[in-house]
Amino acid sequence: MRNKVLLVEDSKAVQQMYKNKLTLEQFQVLTADNGMEAIKLLSQEKPDIILLDLMMPIMDGYKVLQVIKTEPRLSKIPVLVFSAKGQPEEVEKAITLGAAGYIVKATTKPNEVIEKIKTVISQKPTELKFSRYSIEIREDAYDAKKLADDFNMENFRCTSCQAPLLLELIPDFSHETPWFTGKFFCPRCSQ
Ligand SMILES: [Zn+2]
Repeated sequence: MRNKVLLVEDSKAVQQMYKNKLTLEQFQVLTADNGMEAIKLLSQEKPDIILLDLMMPIMDGYKVLQVIKTEPRLSKIPVLVFSAKGQPEEVEKAITLGAAGYIVKATTKPNEVIEKIKTVISQKPTELKFSRYSIEIREDAYDAKKLADDFNMENFRCTSCQAPLLLELIPDFSHETPWFTGKFFCPRCSQ
């Protein structure tokens, strides 16, 4: 059985280019020009994967992602989001809303996108979770002490509950090598 892809993209040129590529790769391709059309289509169709542009008129990709992930019939469909540049704020927002992965339009070649689609489809739903990472800091290692001093973090302890702080790393796909945006948070107060 052929895998069905829903391609949600407002640029007709990009849409046509991926439609051709995916058809050649034996995918069945459904297309929508904006979020509203995608939602309408999803009331009758259940694709195996969704490629979703974030910036679109009428209804943007975040809103579509939110609808998909809160609808039980659709929530398990993996969604790969397209962004122009892959800014950390966009990555973070898309992950929080349940995206399975992220494609940076400006730097990802169409063939790499096809490979990514194949990888995501072949994975089991439980393996799809696209994460952020919680890292524990050793207070005595390398620059840890200097970091704590410079930023007034009292040995990486939470100022309200004294629990050790963790460093949360959020992937930033605007770089070619693995790159992250990080922030400290308290696992107990979760802030
Ligand atoms: Zn705390």
